[in-house]
Amino acid sequence: MESILVDRGLQPSSESPDLEIVHTCSVTGQAAAKSRNAIRRAKRNGKHVFVTGCFTGTDPEVAKELGDTVITQAGKTPMLERFAHEVDGWLQRPHQKEQPVSTSLPIATLPTTPGEHIRAELRIQDGCDAHCTFCIIPKIRTTLRSKTVEDTVAEATRLVALGHKEIIFTGIFIGAYGHETALRRKQKTSKGSGGEHLANLLDAVAQIDGLERLRISSMEPGDVTPVLLDAMVANKNIVPHLHLPLQSGSNAVLQKMNRQYNVDQYLEMIAMVNERLTVDGLPPAITTDIICGFPTETDEDFAQTVGIAKQVKYLHMHVFPYSVRTGTAAARWNQLPSEVVRDRVQQLLSLDEELSLAYRTQLVGRSVQVMLEQSDPDTHLFRGRCEHYAEITLKTNAKQGELLHATVTEVTNDSTLAMQELTILTS
Ligand code: SF4
Repeated sequence: MESILVDRGLQPSSESPDLEIVHTCSVTGQAAAKSRNAIRRAKRNGKHVFVTGCFTGTDPEVAKELGDTVITQAGKTPMLERFAHEVDGWLQRPHQKEQPVSTSLPIATLPTTPGEHIRAELRIQDGCDAHCTFCIIPKIRTTLRSKTVEDTVAEATRLVALGHKEIIFTGIFIGAYGHETALRRKQKTSKGSGGEHLANLLDAVAQIDGLERLRISSMEPGDVTPVLLDAMVANKNIVPHLHLPLQSGSNAVLQKMNRQYNVDQYLEMIAMVNERLTVDGLPPAITTDIICGFPTETDEDFAQTVGIAKQVKYLHMHVFPYSVRTGTAAARWNQLPSEVVRDRVQQLLSLDEELSLAYRTQLVGRSVQVMLEQSDPDTHLFRGRCEHYAEITLKTNAKQGELLHATVTEVTNDSTLAMQELTILTS
């Protein structure tokens, strides 16, 4: 979006912009409320407000009432094209002829600024039709689309040329890459299966010269397959980290959530991941999402979630209190008392600290690769992530974006400290 504006002669300004874009989210009721407030705030500044993002799909009337120009996700014209078209209208330029509709996700138009971020997100897939009972996304992003291998490689090459060292594949349901459905039982009848498409894409992008790290943002458990793990093992720049949402450790709750796996299947997949990606006794980093206090979740269900978390030994758990999302099936069910939800969240957050410390303790004395991301100019302390996703703090005179060998010296609840070794791997 920024590049579309810059191409038309506009400059970013934090002080008194003529145009503000509010890119909204509405995945939870709270996110929708924040989006509403953000539009109101922008509007109070008396500027022209463009509203984009999911809120325009879930609350189109409110978006139209509050914002000046609303760009919905609906329709077949890719969002960036619609945006460019509306910007031209706002600038009172002749409207550009719309581009032919593409069945592939559009290649992004220079979405980043050189050197600004070490990591870049690259969206390879959009849409979900899995209909988990707590989630609104299938109602607003119904059509599944995937970026072609050629477009993805071209975009990744461009990101690397702009100075990004790490690329993260993102999407709504990445495991459905190359498929028209996220429903696994239906995928079995489509061409290609078991993560083949995604594995091919990983193989292709990993070959790009200068790409130090490639990461997958989140995978549904059923899509982590031997062929995908083979691609991770074969390409040394694909990091040994997977984000594998559990949501609940109780089969009864998983069923109510309409998730596409049960606890045994999840644990089998974890065993396979550990077996394939453990190197020198260090297991891969596994992170997860867990929803606490889903309607019908009993103390026993919650205890099972705690048990599974301890068994998997996550590096990090993103813990979410269940929040009602209007328009979903679960919103119509009896909700748990808020103090019960709060208490369960607290218990999981404490467990998260404990498990994270235990995982990171395995790094002590080991040599890790750290990608330097942020520095404190006063202390010369740099922060960055190692290949196992733990955030590492170390003192160094090296520069942002450099990849260093370092030895982990100490872990605490809050940090993982390391000492730089002599070799600088890249600059
Ligand atoms: S898999 Fe479930 S939670 Fe994820 S986007 Fe689809 S419906 Fe939502």
